[in-house]
Amino acid sequence: MTTSLWHERAAALAIDGRAFIDGQRVWAKSERQFDDLSPIDGRNLGPVARCDGADVDVAVAAARAAFEDRRWAGKSPAQRKRVLIKFADLVQKYGPELALLETLDMGKPIKYSQSTDVGATANCLRWYGEAIDKIYDEIAPTAANSLALITREAVGVVAAIVPWNYPMIMAAWKIAPALAAGNSVILKPSEKSPLTALRLAEIGLEAGLPPGVFNVLPGFGQEAGAALALHMDVDCIGFTGSTGTGKQIMQMAGQSNLKRAWTELGGKSANIVCADCPDLDKAVAAAIGSIYFNQGESCNAPSRLFVEASIKERFLEKALALLPNYQPGDPLDEATVMGAIVDATQLDTVMGYIDAGKEAGAELLAGGRRARGDSGGFYVQPTLFDKVDNGMRIAREEIFGPVLSVLSFTDLNDAVKQANATPFGLQAAVWTGNISKAIQTARALRAGTVHVNQYDGDDITVPFGGYKQSGNGRDKSLHAFDKYTELKTTWIQIG
Ligand code: NAD
Repeated sequence: MTTSLWHERAAALAIDGRAFIDGQRVWAKSERQFDDLSPIDGRNLGPVARCDGADVDVAVAAARAAFEDRRWAGKSPAQRKRVLIKFADLVQKYGPELALLETLDMGKPIKYSQSTDVGATANCLRWYGEAIDKIYDEIAPTAANSLALITREAVGVVAAIVPWNYPMIMAAWKIAPALAAGNSVILKPSEKSPLTALRLAEIGLEAGLPPGVFNVLPGFGQEAGAALALHMDVDCIGFTGSTGTGKQIMQMAGQSNLKRAWTELGGKSANIVCADCPDLDKAVAAAIGSIYFNQGESCNAPSRLFVEASIKERFLEKALALLPNYQPGDPLDEATVMGAIVDATQLDTVMGYIDAGKEAGAELLAGGRRARGDSGGFYVQPTLFDKVDNGMRIAREEIFGPVLSVLSFTDLNDAVKQANATPFGLQAAVWTGNISKAIQTARALRAGTVHVNQYDGDDITVPFGGYKQSGNGRDKSLHAFDKYTELKTTWIQIG
């Protein structure tokens, strides 16, 4: 589709910012609203319901009622599967609209909203739908005169709080396994990107989810988010966001009803390229492509690049040659690969880190400035710092923007030590043609996912989550069911 057609569609799009509770669109009880500004050009996409504790009470009551009367949990896995697969089909059917909403709301290129975000969301719903009627319960090897069944049951009312960087995918990673397992769900999207979550709720209803089973409450973290985390009748909270907020979520879960709290948090992933890397061009393309994908707003972005000193010059030469391909463009142009930063606050954060890198003495080799200043939106050039020290803020803290820090090493053990010298542990990578070195390094890296000679391995079948302060849970794969199910033991006396 042409850029002007996307713009026309954007102008004609009817945006509904009301919450979705018990199968209905409603404004917040307080009638308060907030403006949802597009990072593309600063335009106001419309008012969105500013939900708070009063709305949380209503949504939790609706979700609880739906759970207790078994209108969803009581359906057979095969019935739930059919609804989730229909849900996935409808996500694809409404794909162009969802992609447009996602791009307008958080600034990512339309090309990726269509392929990555819509595709992964539909795939996730379909995969958990397909999985749920293929999971068997267990029988424990107890004495001959007893039978002990180990079964999985839905936890009950699940709250899902998600960030703005992949609004639909992050929502799908929570709601798909939670709904498949029979829970009722209340989703709180980020206040920066609430629109696709609200459409997903309508689409879920159309697919056959009974009212009350999937509710969406837009609003701010301190209001709607905290009220969910503190609620005495929420059984489980699945959270994705920053490490600071994750700590608060754990505290709120503990101080209220000790609800299960699962956190998927920030990262500062290390990408280690050894001199015996089997394909330098591929390593360069992966390092650059992965840090600038989604404007650098990815939790698993390989933001610390450790390159063996003997190949660093060659590596950087090739890397800099790729940078012109990542200049920010209009997110509604299908040729654009780097879009807008989500809002003015995040833009300031990114620019603040760029200043901090310069002040600390890192060498700015490329970028470092705002781009597309006359657009009214928020864009940053792909930025690359060389001569970074692991102690600098740009190497220690999550920037969440298109900023790559390059460090060099001569001793791999030391590089691994530096890679691990972070509170985070989400992902890491090592590039080497030596199989023993690859396996030893992969074992030594303290991260939930380690890549060897690639950085783009990604599939719904594998768990995604972090060590250390990158969180305590795993999204995706069959392991995600552990978060949203209780294990029950049933002892039966035989004779
Ligand atoms: P954030 O922590 O500011 O907000 C995340 C969500 O929590 C939002 O919906 C927000 O409204 C809500 N929230 C904020 N304060 C709250 C509070 N006191 N109580 C309850 N809810 C509250 O994070 P963000 O800026 O939206 O997202 C970026 C972060 O998310 C980055 O750190 C990134 O690494 C992380 N992230 C992690 C993963 C992962 O799978 N590990 C995936 C995507 C993003």
